[in-house]
Amino acid sequence: MTLLDVKSDFPLLNQQINDHSLVYLDSAATAQKPQVVIDAVSDYYKYDNANVHRGVHTLGQRATDAYEGARETVTQFIHAKDSKEIIFTRGTTSSINIVARSYGDAFITAGDEIVLTEMEHHSNLIPWQQVAKRTGATLKFIPLEVDGTITMTSVKETITEKTKLVAITHVSNVLGTINPIKDITSYAHDLGAVVLVDGAQAVPHMAVDVEELDCDFYAFSGHKLGAPTGIGVLYGKAALLNQMAPVEFGGEMIDFVSLTSATFKELPWKFEGGTPIIAGAVGLAKAIDYLQTIGFDKIAAHEKALTNYAMSKLKQLDGVDIYGPEERCGLITFNLTDVHPHDTATVLDSFGVAVRAGHHCCQPLMKWLNVTATARASFYVYNTFEDVDLFIDGLKQAKEFFG
Ligand code: PLP
Repeated sequence: MTLLDVKSDFPLLNQQINDHSLVYLDSAATAQKPQVVIDAVSDYYKYDNANVHRGVHTLGQRATDAYEGARETVTQFIHAKDSKEIIFTRGTTSSINIVARSYGDAFITAGDEIVLTEMEHHSNLIPWQQVAKRTGATLKFIPLEVDGTITMTSVKETITEKTKLVAITHVSNVLGTINPIKDITSYAHDLGAVVLVDGAQAVPHMAVDVEELDCDFYAFSGHKLGAPTGIGVLYGKAALLNQMAPVEFGGEMIDFVSLTSATFKELPWKFEGGTPIIAGAVGLAKAIDYLQTIGFDKIAAHEKALTNYAMSKLKQLDGVDIYGPEERCGLITFNLTDVHPHDTATVLDSFGVAVRAGHHCCQPLMKWLNVTATARASFYVYNTFEDVDLFIDGLKQAKEFFG
């Protein structure tokens, strides 16, 4: 089995935390950045910085080329048909909010159903609660099986002819569950519903093909795949985006303006009011290049090997509750019996091991798991078997400490 050896590409990882080498196992929250991304952003500011779509001067042209070039990179990355279907946003949350505001408010009405699952991140729950409040639509939830998966039987029992929109995560940030998006999309379309996919935890780890999934909207964040914070993507089918109104109004997104009215640009710019996130887009394109050069087949195999290794080690420890299905994507959520996850994470931090503790922006899912919070270790391209060993050693210390 070939495993990746790319840790040295990530300068932040080469440091001591509490007198121990840093073991970063919180990539599901945000991933570290490879030097090539840091350089791309820094070079952009050093040599090319200008505003886009306006200046006729050389820098303005270079900045525009870099920004629109990044859009082409994303288009190919997720296999969209056309770059006008790629809208740059601040991240997954803002992408979903655009659809909720623009599509939700215009096309969902009282009596319609919005279908979600019980495992959604707050970012793919609260915008729909708000749409339901504004429109009088009803929220319905695809229930979870005991292992934290959903079945097509439940999908078919929940989506009906009244369903206008299905909003579902591709991969759960708590359970690691990988949802059968293609089957869900096909079923929802047969009943006339559109499908939005929250891809925040999928895009960093697997090759995503929006055409094959046939979803109507797909949202993700750059920072979880090695790009800077503050850049994300909303993919939407052009036929739908064309019918939708802009959400933010102002500079950049207009065509013609008088004192009393305005017309708006075509896709994708009508959704990108104000000076866009130019350096972020440059960093995102470089992060995508970096991951594609490694290859998503290798990334997936690497993460699977690490997750399986960590899982087998965790199962050898007494008093560890592990949540989620066997088949999972790159993370393990767990609790030490009778130890608060914040205490577990604090002890791990004293050994230089960074894991997440809390509700992971999934309070309803915590309720379903019958816990208030959990700890979560998440793996990415740069993690190693040694990282897993140090994590397990730290956990053993935590168990001893809390007796
Ligand atoms: N959806 C899922 C499944 C996530 O894991 C996250 C972030 O943790 C989000 C949405 C929100 O992403 P962002 O905070 O980058 O908008």
